[in-house]
Amino acid sequence: MENLIKLTKQKLCAKCDICCRFPEETPNLKPTGFKLKKSGELFICEAFNLETGRCLKYSKRPFDCQIYPFAVARTPDNENIMLIIDNLCPAAAEIKTKKQILRSKLHAINPIEWEETFIPLKLLEDTKARTEVLNPLSATDLLFFNSYIPKRSNLSAFSFAYHFLWEDFFKFSWKIIDGALCVFAKDIDNTFMPLPPLSEKSVKPAVFERCFELMALQNKGKTESRIENIPEDTAKELEHEGFRIAKKDEEYLYKTEKLEGLSGDKYKHIRWLVNKFKKENNFSFVKYSGKYLNGCADLLFNWLEEKKKTAATDNEAFLLKNIDKAHKRALMNHASLGLEGRVLLADGKVAAYTFGTPLGKDTFCVMLEVTDHNIKGAAQYIFMKMACEFSKYKFMNTMGDEGIQSLRENKMHYHPMKTIPEYIIYNRR
Ligand code: SF4
Ligand code: SF4
Repeated sequence: MENLIKLTKQKLCAKCDICCRFPEETPNLKPTGFKLKKSGELFICEAFNLETGRCLKYSKRPFDCQIYPFAVARTPDNENIMLIIDNLCPAAAEIKTKKQILRSKLHAINPIEWEETFIPLKLLEDTKARTEVLNPLSATDLLFFNSYIPKRSNLSAFSFAYHFLWEDFFKFSWKIIDGALCVFAKDIDNTFMPLPPLSEKSVKPAVFERCFELMALQNKGKTESRIENIPEDTAKELEHEGFRIAKKDEEYLYKTEKLEGLSGDKYKHIRWLVNKFKKENNFSFVKYSGKYLNGCADLLFNWLEEKKKTAATDNEAFLLKNIDKAHKRALMNHASLGLEGRVLLADGKVAAYTFGTPLGKDTFCVMLEVTDHNIKGAAQYIFMKMACEFSKYKFMNTMGDEGIQSLRENKMHYHPMKTIPEYIIYNRR
C-alpha cells in the first residue's frame, strides 16, 4: 500500500482543482469521516482551505484521500472488488503504466460504486455473486487486460491492440469467470468472444459453458454464439469435451534471428533489396511520434488508393475499405494500445511505417506495415530493422494472410519457421 501512496504524489496536484471539491453533497468518492459544505456551485470538504488549496488535516487525511486517484470499487456486474484508478485525475494515464501497481497489497474494504471514469487495475476479491451483467472494457484498460495474458501466448489476438484497433466496429466488455478474464465483443447484431478466456492456469470447460450462456442471453437465439482465435491445443481439448470447432486462419511465425541476419541463399533476394535501399537513399529509421502523423497519414492514403486498384477478392476489397480506421487508431493512440511504432524516412519523407506489440514473453507481433512501393527495398529494410529492434523476442508473428494470395506469397518469402493455426469454437449441440 505504501508503494501505491507514493505513486499518488503528483506535481500536477498543485495546479489541479479536482480533489477535495465535489459536484454533489453525497458523492461516491466522499472522504470518509469528513463533512462537505456548500461553496458556490460545489461542495467542498470541511478540511479543505480554499484560499491555500491545501488540506488542513493532511497528515490525518482518510485512507480514500491517501490513495486517490486509486480507489477500491465494486465492478458493475457486482461480482468483483477491484483496485481502480480514476481517469478523471489528469495524472492517471501516466500513473497507471507503473508495474508496481500490480504488486501492491490492498484489502477489498468499503468498496465504492463503479463510475464511468474508473479504469480497472487489479482484482482484489471475488464477491461470489453471479449476474448476467457484463463490465465495459475500454481503450484505457491495457494494463488490466495484459495482466491476464498467458506468458506463452503467440497468437495476435492475445494482445490488446488486436481488438482496440477495431474499436470503431465493436463494443467490448469483460467478466471474470473462475479467475479467467473473459472478453466479449458486440457489433451491430451479434455478441461473440474475440479470444478465449484468459488465464495463466488451464481454463476449465465450465468457464466456456458459462461464456456461451452469457452470449446466448445477449444474442437471444438470433445468431450463433462463438469464440474466436482459439489456439490448436485448447481447440482440440474442447472438441474432446463436445464443443464444435472450425479452423479459422493461420498466423506466420518466424525466428527473429533469421529475419535480423537475413543470411544464406534463401534470403539472397531480400538482402539485395535491403542493400539497394541503403545504397540509393539518404534514410533514417526512427521511433514513431506524433510529429510523423501527417507524413504517415499521407503515405497511408496513397498506399490504400494503389491497393484498392489491385484488390483481387471481395474480402481484400472489404479489408482495404475498413483498414484505414485501424491505422488511424494506431497513429493517434499507439501508446495507450501498447503498440511500438517505427518510421522509415527517405530524404526526410515517410517511406514506410510499422506498428507492432509483444505477445506473451517470447513473441513480437508486427500488426501494421505501410510502405511506399516506389522506393525499392523500403518494405524489406523496415521489416529487417523491426527484427533487429525487437531481437529480445525469440519469435516474430506477422499475423495471417486473410486468404489474400499476394500477402501469402510475401509472408512465405521470409521463410516462416511454422504457421500457427487458430480455431473458432461453437457450443455443444
Ligand atoms: S485529481 Fe489527481 S492531479 Fe488533481 S489534485 Fe487530485 S490527485 Fe492531484
Ligand atoms: S480530508 Fe483533506 S485531502 Fe481529503 S478531501 Fe478533505 S481536504 Fe481533501
